[in-house]
Amino acid sequence: MSILLLVGLLSYHRPPDPADRRTGARYWLSWAAIFLVVDVLVALLAHSTVAGIVLLRFMEATALILSTLNVAILMLSRPRSPLMLVYGIAITSFALSSVAFLLGRPWNHMWWLAHVIFASGFFLLSYGVAYAFLTTRSFATIYSREELNARLAHAMARTESALQELQRTNRKLEHLAATDPLTGAANRRHFIERLEAEVARAKSEGAPFSLLALDVDNFKWVNDAYGHQVGDTVLQGFVQACLDAIRPYDGVARVGGEEFMVLLPRTSLDAALAVGERIRAAIASTTFAGEVGRRVSITVSIGISQFGRDGSTIDALLRAADQRLYHAKRQGRNRVAAV
Ligand code: GH3
Ligand code: MG
Ligand code: MG
Repeated sequence: MSILLLVGLLSYHRPPDPADRRTGARYWLSWAAIFLVVDVLVALLAHSTVAGIVLLRFMEATALILSTLNVAILMLSRPRSPLMLVYGIAITSFALSSVAFLLGRPWNHMWWLAHVIFASGFFLLSYGVAYAFLTTRSFATIYSREELNARLAHAMARTESALQELQRTNRKLEHLAATDPLTGAANRRHFIERLEAEVARAKSEGAPFSLLALDVDNFKWVNDAYGHQVGDTVLQGFVQACLDAIRPYDGVARVGGEEFMVLLPRTSLDAALAVGERIRAAIASTTFAGEVGRRVSITVSIGISQFGRDGSTIDALLRAADQRLYHAKRQGRNRVAAV
């Protein structure tokens, strides 16, 4: 029996035998005959005077080794199905009963205990098989269905983690699609989206917002004097200086090469003028890192428009801010224009 249980466990992952073989009477009858022969041989050996105690002990010890091997293989393969857990407990009790049989003498208490342990294991194994049959209505698919469930759980866990990875990648892509790679500021597309939302909010709540159009003064000269790479660094520093001068929920967007816009939600023109002036002063007083040992100074011109006063469409607001920006340029640059 120990040999058969071990063979059964080792063929756990193998597909079932073909149906015609499983249902054929010859197949079952031949196995029944083999069992009968083995039973008769064991009975003869047990009662023969030739065999003696040594052979019986050898057989019991072999059963113990095989059962222990069976338990070890089962524990190493970490089965997840309840049926295999029942099987594992049953073969553990077979191993224990073998120990008890080795220690016991016929009719003494250990011998009886060995029988009880063996019978419990057998009862448990029968219970597991009957239970599995009642659940699946088939002996042929018991193991594969248990396995299927385990694989399904595994596949679901993998799908879940792939989904999370996809969501992370989507968030990254969304971020990339909304930001300018050089400065990290919002790009034009994202800025227009925010502006649309702000227009809708302002219309429903009635609270105005303001827009700042910024253009770095004589930036072409910065490039010409220090090189394009320094120009890039200056643009990055420019965005950082703007962010430092505004509130966390005001957004800076890069809408052109050295042209930026700042959205100031719930801000009237007067307050926006103060913010614009703060940005202008901050940029004028900041020196940006140029080549080794050289610092670059720049200035910025800013035009401001306010929702309501300068219209209530995005086009009208952008146009008004642009006009004032060019007004500031004409006035001599490094200034803020709100009219
Ligand atoms: P104004 O005061 O009239 O705005 O003069 P300006 O030189 O800033 O204006 P202009 O539009 O003539 O030049 C803008 C310059 O900005 C030209 C272009 O090389 C530079 N520029 C645009 N995008 C980038 C960029 O990504 N990196 C760098 N380094 N320079 C840029
Ligand atoms: Mg420009
Ligand atoms: Mg410029």
